[in-house]
Amino acid sequence: MTSVAEYFQSDSVLTTALPGFAPRPAQTEMATAIAKTLKAKTQLVVEAETGTGKTYAYLVPILKSKGSAIISTGTKALQEQLYHRDLPALRDAIAPQKQVSLLKGRSNYLCLHRLAQSQAHASELSPTVQKQVVEVKRWAVRTEDGDVGGLSSLPEDAEVLPHVTSTVDNCLGRDCPDYDDCYLVKARKSALEADVVVVNHHLFFADMALKDVGFGELIPHADALVFDEAHQLPDIASQYFGEAVGSRQLQELAQEAKVLYLTELKDLRQLDKAADKLLGSLRDWRLAFPVDPQRGNWRQAQQQPQIQEAAAQVSETMQFFADVAKGALGRNQDLDSIYERCVQFMHTWELLQNTQRTGFSFWFETTPRQITVHQTPLQVADKFGSYVANSESSWVFTSATLAIGKDFSHFTRLLGLDQAATLCLPSPFAFAEQGMLCVPRYLPQPHEREMLDHLLQVTTQVLDVNQQGGTFVLFTSHRMLQRVAERLETLTDRPLFVQGSTNKRELLADFIAAGNGVLLGTSSFWEGVDVRGKALTCVIIDKLPFGSPDDPLLQARIEDCRLRGAEPFTQVQLPPAVIALKQGAGRLIRDSSDRGVLIVCDQRLVTKPYGQLFLASLPPLRRTRDLSQALDFLAEINGDSSA
Ligand code: SF4
Repeated sequence: MTSVAEYFQSDSVLTTALPGFAPRPAQTEMATAIAKTLKAKTQLVVEAETGTGKTYAYLVPILKSKGSAIISTGTKALQEQLYHRDLPALRDAIAPQKQVSLLKGRSNYLCLHRLAQSQAHASELSPTVQKQVVEVKRWAVRTEDGDVGGLSSLPEDAEVLPHVTSTVDNCLGRDCPDYDDCYLVKARKSALEADVVVVNHHLFFADMALKDVGFGELIPHADALVFDEAHQLPDIASQYFGEAVGSRQLQELAQEAKVLYLTELKDLRQLDKAADKLLGSLRDWRLAFPVDPQRGNWRQAQQQPQIQEAAAQVSETMQFFADVAKGALGRNQDLDSIYERCVQFMHTWELLQNTQRTGFSFWFETTPRQITVHQTPLQVADKFGSYVANSESSWVFTSATLAIGKDFSHFTRLLGLDQAATLCLPSPFAFAEQGMLCVPRYLPQPHEREMLDHLLQVTTQVLDVNQQGGTFVLFTSHRMLQRVAERLETLTDRPLFVQGSTNKRELLADFIAAGNGVLLGTSSFWEGVDVRGKALTCVIIDKLPFGSPDDPLLQARIEDCRLRGAEPFTQVQLPPAVIALKQGAGRLIRDSSDRGVLIVCDQRLVTKPYGQLFLASLPPLRRTRDLSQALDFLAEINGDSSA
């Protein structure tokens, strides 16, 4: 039998079956370590930089192992890419008997019951949604998997989607008349029968936190679990191990009750009245907060008399609504489901009014019309760590950015992975030849007002030289992005691509097509973006990406760290900033033939002692503080027709 390492030799079946496959030493080392982990049923944390070929490094041992596996990716786009591109080609070449399956979150699947309901009550919907329902109905006849991502004629955030997909709250589960034809049920069944199931982190944690009570768990048990882009896990886990209650969910509940009154329960006038009262109190609750959308500390906000009064009103109207629904239990399945959800909301609502408990951050966020209150655990290590330790499965966590320097302890501590082995693989790129890092001299402090002018100066100097290549300007705040975007428009005639002007995918495609464009983006462009060749030859970063001191979750983590007697800056603030900068810097060199310049406009990188930690975690690019040297290198790249 062929060993895993043999698949990565130059004459292996992979070199003929996979176009462009070239074995690399770090890839072989990673695949061998994973095969060992799967056999021993242990845990492995492995950092593999871009260019290592980590996807094949985990797919080969998984496909060659006897057991079942779950692979979890950071986003739905990566999930699709793995399932439709990398996995089938490799499976066909080395393990054609293995069954693979793709499982997404509930909101990705058409809900036949809700589609039928929307059609029946079309007159209650807005004209736009009515038209979109017709479109969905037409597509529903053709679709095989019910994945609404295939509804290409509608925008990704089409208004109709919440009306034709289900939530844990409104799914009728086994009581549903469409249960046998349900796409979600079919997807779950296919996952149960598969050897390898591809999921994403959000679905994994939603499932683990047993949020999906409508069907119980969606993701089946597996012998091995592999997490790609694993640096995202601690934050995503906190999100799903927390609780939240929002005005939008309660409004939906009230609206559904009103539709039921107008259609099937016409004698239940009291239900309509209770729904109106609930809707009114929810509006007042939102109005008790400042008009501009914001995030804030719920524990503090809750002390304000107008907020207390508005919250008390919501409690009262919710109770009245639940009493009315309870009085009609058994008359209609949808009403029964509304009652159950209302009781659950009341429970979470009560929980979130008691903010004296420790170990959590209590925070709220508002949009122009809605408010959501969250309770987020400050630590997930105990819960996740014991889940991993008691699972009897093997666990692999991989990403290009897990270690700080060569140290994995920050990541393993956050997830409670005390027993995990770690592996840090060298990059296959010749960074010192391929790229240059510049921290320009004579910059003001990042918070000083003059910083905007300096940043614009650096950017325009870069654009003057980088005529043939693309430039990314990555920001840590939307405000700075907007200010630079406004001024840059008047300073350059190069095509500008500003985050927020269209969706991320389109913006990126237009930027690549332009060839020498300038893309201005915040956090979502710091990672998961792969632009190769001359389309991206310079990345400018405005400042070190420390979390905002106004973030209530960060504030709570700092407070918690102090209470534990530890030092918050090094324990809480520094590690995620190092990982974020590493991610941002990682946009530049994506291929062994890529060349480019990274400019970080924050002198703290070289003047503060902690700057060393950032530098030790960045790719070993040639370094300079002289901007003209960086511009010369950029000019050289621009003159090189092969780059
Ligand atoms: S079982 Fe749930 S998701 Fe499936 S069709 Fe019925 S309500 Fe929709």
